[in-house]
Amino acid sequence: MPKSLIYSDVYKPYCVEVYYGPMWSKKTLNVLIAIDALKRKGIPYQVFKPRIDTRYFADCIVSRFDSFTDRPHDDASRFLKEPAEVFDEKRPGEIASRLQDSTRVAVISEAQLAGEGIDEVVRFLQKRGLYVICEGLNLDYTGEYFSLGMSNIINEATHPHSLHAICAYPGCGEAAYFTQKLNPDRTPAPYAANRPDRLQIGDFCYEPRCIPPHPVPVRPSLSVCPGGSGHRGPYGIFEPRGAAIRSDPAE
Ligand SMILES: [Zn+2]
Repeated sequence: MPKSLIYSDVYKPYCVEVYYGPMWSKKTLNVLIAIDALKRKGIPYQVFKPRIDTRYFADCIVSRFDSFTDRPHDDASRFLKEPAEVFDEKRPGEIASRLQDSTRVAVISEAQLAGEGIDEVVRFLQKRGLYVICEGLNLDYTGEYFSLGMSNIINEATHPHSLHAICAYPGCGEAAYFTQKLNPDRTPAPYAANRPDRLQIGDFCYEPRCIPPHPVPVRPSLSVCPGGSGHRGPYGIFEPRGAAIRSDPAE
């Protein structure tokens, strides 16, 4: 451990940094960049990931940065990765019990997949003086919050970072803050009030989407503007003025 224990861009004791956004928004890449700096400074850290996340490497966190712009998407030799300790997502308290005395930074990947109490664990680590770095999805495919734990982490973080991807809808390319679930025939999966598959893992049926033209069928409107003009996006949010102008009233 270096002599420097003071706050810096690399090491922020008593702080929680969280990177959140949809699929492909470079959440893990940001975490890997932070870890690279910790390595260079010699600051002891531990990386944790939930057991349910078995994509590609069961015992590593993985960024597919620059590996999904062309196929095959699963060319694992191009992935950036970092070894991680696997914890039981139903018992996020395992993170605290596995913490080594020398550890100064705790990294938690895919925090939205951890069950109830993950926010409690983050609070515990923060109070203990650790620098906590988390990443995960804030919203599920319906546009609603993914988990209460993740929402609390984002709300209470000292350093929250909302990331976006590029909308993967053919020909779109707008900033994407949502993740769409696709049926095998690539039509949008419908809204479901109860979503036992919320934790379903699978990259190829989820893609980043912007707000305006990509509906989640049967999703109830949020009624942002009761009695409004009817120009309402699929998430119940106003469509931008440009979108309304573009639509042909004769259609
Ligand atoms: Zn789009």
